[in-house]
Amino acid sequence: MTRPIAKPANVPARTRRRQRSLSLLRPALIVALAATCALAFPTVLQAVRSAGVTVAGPPGKPPGMVAGQIAMSGLQTGACMSFPSKGGGSGKTVFIDPGHGGLDPGVVGTIGQQQVLEKDVTLAVGFRLAALLQSDGYRVVMSRTQDSSVTRLSASDSVTGALTASAEQRDLVTRAACANASSASVLVSIHFDAYDDPAVGGTETFYDAQRAFAAENKRLATDLQNALVSGLGSTDRGVWTDDQLVAPALTVSGSIYGHLIELGPPSPGYVDNPSQMPGALVEPLFLTNASEAKLASTASGQQRVAVALQAGLRKFFSGA
Ligand SMILES: [Zn+2]
Repeated sequence: MTRPIAKPANVPARTRRRQRSLSLLRPALIVALAATCALAFPTVLQAVRSAGVTVAGPPGKPPGMVAGQIAMSGLQTGACMSFPSKGGGSGKTVFIDPGHGGLDPGVVGTIGQQQVLEKDVTLAVGFRLAALLQSDGYRVVMSRTQDSSVTRLSASDSVTGALTASAEQRDLVTRAACANASSASVLVSIHFDAYDDPAVGGTETFYDAQRAFAAENKRLATDLQNALVSGLGSTDRGVWTDDQLVAPALTVSGSIYGHLIELGPPSPGYVDNPSQMPGALVEPLFLTNASEAKLASTASGQQRVAVALQAGLRKFFSGA
């Protein structure tokens, strides 16, 4: 198929392919960072508002996971949920962000007649990774635990069944705010890839190089990338800075911003509350590649991705 993306309007910029010459195409637009959209900013009230909620989820969710929602305004039900560590406890929190959700399916791949939606795969992998990290002694906060956005939506946030650009941007900003409210030590955003040519496959990971903790970002991205390539036996497509992504943008402000919202630096009016911990965005497999989509859609394949991410995080936290 030449058009793997079923509904382009639903697919945010970060799932599009990067262009290596992007920097040449992006002239000095950085000048005018005047963003006009006013954001309803989540306010952190206290650590955990409620406890004892058993979260519903797709296959792959470990049974008995009990979660509490981080107290922020503007959250969807089941969003920004905290899961306690099991066992000793490292005292650290890992923020897991399953990409997309709800009206935003992300990449739409196919296996024969069956559709594989990125939002489903990211959530299934996220649950599996959460369980593994809990057992490693980490508290885990997940940006979402249901097939939904993270930010609470109103009727004006969608048009003909697709999120508006401003709603998508607000959703990503809310994910970063959730990571901050969680006091997480690291942020791992889980996505899957797409390309027009179904023969293309492999693993790639993105980080932001323009943060005070850029060196840690790169080390995290490298550790996750190496573990994924090793664990999946996939083609190593490399570690990239997030300004290498095609950024056509949710909005004009977004194309000027030129970073992944969850990883990037502050930009007044656009990203007022940037993530405050090392972060990386992984793309373990291509859902537009039939064999990789098949792997990504099975429980065993999702577990392999999760185990690889666990291994990458173990390496990162070991400081080796
Ligand atoms: Zn994605």
